[in-house]
Amino acid sequence: MATGSDITLICPALNEASGIGFFLQQLDQTLAALPETFRFRVVVVDDGSTDNTGEQVMLYQPQSFTLTLCQLTRNFGKEAAIQAGLERYHADAVILLDTDLQHPLSLIPQMLEHWQLGVLVVEAVKSHRGDESRWYSWASGLFYKSMKSTSGLTLENQSDYKLLDATVIQTLLALPERIRFFRGLVQWMGFKSVTLPFEVQERHIGDSSWNGLHLLRYSIRNITAFSSIPLYLITIIGLLMLVFSTVLGAHVLYQWAIGTAVTGFTTVILLLLLIGSLLLISLGIIGLYIARIYEEVKSRPLYLVAKEWHS
Ligand code: UDP
Ligand code: MG
Repeated sequence: MATGSDITLICPALNEASGIGFFLQQLDQTLAALPETFRFRVVVVDDGSTDNTGEQVMLYQPQSFTLTLCQLTRNFGKEAAIQAGLERYHADAVILLDTDLQHPLSLIPQMLEHWQLGVLVVEAVKSHRGDESRWYSWASGLFYKSMKSTSGLTLENQSDYKLLDATVIQTLLALPERIRFFRGLVQWMGFKSVTLPFEVQERHIGDSSWNGLHLLRYSIRNITAFSSIPLYLITIIGLLMLVFSTVLGAHVLYQWAIGTAVTGFTTVILLLLLIGSLLLISLGIIGLYIARIYEEVKSRPLYLVAKEWHS
């Protein structure tokens, strides 16, 4: 490419002050080894850190890239931070990566090689999930399975570590929905992609902000974003209950007709409890979808920027 190309790396960061300097330093080394036809910009989206992540970024003196810090007013979540980066910083290609060095920088040169050959999406997939606890990997496995069976998206081992061509980003940003699941949307768009396997590195410094509750919220949010099958499920359960009630009803009527008294209240109580719980669960699921509609209709911005700084 004669004129060279603009490559932007978007790196969401929440409370990464202890490791972000080292991350930028490593990134500098990686990018310095790449051809000069690439003009690199690194954007750290500070997602409302309460430590001095921002100051640490501004202290850093980059050699092989220009550095931008985009500070959100508060913590809006990683999805919003990614969205902020994609909306505000355009380039010929964008690479998204975590600032905790769990996404190995050594993949960047390969990603760019594929892109130069015309690949629009390069995805890094986990070949090994790092040091997760047993129950956490069980829970996340359950989420991926539910996602697959309800929306048909295979997200297992997918990560947010991706290179996207400008045309893909344009399409992504043009999708009108507001509650976004970046990984899911990229796969939903269906552009041909190349996958590169990587081993999830141990977190270099600091702690993951994830726990079981986060995972549960994340699962509900993303499943309701991509599938209405839970709503159909309610109808199906309702129909099954109807069949069951008809059979039971016929039995009870028959007993009444031949004069056998129904003994005790156990059956009644059990049925009341069962139907009561099913009704509440069903209402709850409908409520989740109404909540989503409410969120979408409110149309509040996904994030607010407090400050932008360029090196
Ligand atoms: N992150 C963020 N906002 C959040 C949570 C996390 O920008 O609300 C960033 C975080 O700084 C890191 C990346 O997103 O660069 C991945 O987060 P984390 O390491 O906590 O998640 P995990 O690697 O366990 O998926
Ligand atoms: Mg991490």
